[in-house]
Amino acid sequence: MSVSKPNILLIYTGGTIGMVKDIETGALHAFNFNNLLKQIPELKLLDCKIETISFESPIDSSNMNPEHWVQIADIIESYYNNFDGFVVLHGSDTMSYTASALSFMLENLAKPIVFTGAQLPIGDLRTDAKENLITSIQLASLNNEKNAPVIREVCLYFEYKLYRGNRTTKINAEHFQAFKSLNYPCLAESGVHLKINHQYLLKPELDAHLKVHKELDNNIALIKLFPGIKEAYLNSVLHTPNLKALILETYGSGNCTTDKWFVDALKNAILNGIHIINVTQCVGGGVNMGQYETSSHLKRIGVISGKDMTTESAITKLMYLLGKSISRELLKNMFETSLRGEIA
Ligand code: ASP
Repeated sequence: MSVSKPNILLIYTGGTIGMVKDIETGALHAFNFNNLLKQIPELKLLDCKIETISFESPIDSSNMNPEHWVQIADIIESYYNNFDGFVVLHGSDTMSYTASALSFMLENLAKPIVFTGAQLPIGDLRTDAKENLITSIQLASLNNEKNAPVIREVCLYFEYKLYRGNRTTKINAEHFQAFKSLNYPCLAESGVHLKINHQYLLKPELDAHLKVHKELDNNIALIKLFPGIKEAYLNSVLHTPNLKALILETYGSGNCTTDKWFVDALKNAILNGIHIINVTQCVGGGVNMGQYETSSHLKRIGVISGKDMTTESAITKLMYLLGKSISRELLKNMFETSLRGEIA
């Protein structure tokens, strides 16, 4: 019996990978997709069928917003049954946000979605784009002995490593190794062989029905704490019109000042129905409210723990949960529970 080749849909949203230099200013700007494909004749050698679709106007990912996330989700939903896997080409600047958002928006996902991009344009002699793209396609094409996709979650592939998307953070603006997943091991590594770390992969049911969530509520705010933070600053954020939730990037294992004005401001906000979420500003480790006196007060007033979630995941999970109009208790409960492997 012959097994047909996997069908992969390449979704181009923009990013450095397909950019060219403006002759006058020297600045990089998004270019069209056909140009990008011409640069990689190697794609024809891959053992899969590749079709492509592009944003009408490709963007630098610094211009990404929730509407673009819905656009990507729409494309995946429309083509879900016709393809075995999806590779999303995306700028690296906000790739972790988009990958995190899509992980929440695509419930019961049973096919691979691999985000990738590059630090240098594909036409550049020293580009990292080719390896990133080729290996991403190979990973998205991998089938097991039952001819089912090996990867069934939203991932991010960059510089020889495949990560769970909602565990990643961009950590370097210069190195080819631009991403890290400090609180979760990598899912696969590309060396002489592709080594898949099967024990770390999500294993959702293959026949589950994909549910796409497109209601995202971005009435949220984010404050990174710093010694010397002013009361007026915190209050001005807390009085943002329509604010529904505030994420606090606290110190270490979720600690912050015990100053009365600070605790009172948070307490009042919670009484007024605003969700306060605690994530750590450290890139690794997580929040453990109550470990120190400087975090017990947060627990007492009802602050929600982001545990070991990245800020990118916390932001997008919050938009997803707020979009559902669920009760306060349920939101807290769901926020503190792993929905897509984003939390320990
Ligand atoms: N500014 C670019 C972007 O995120 C950087 C990149 O693609 O790596 O679109």
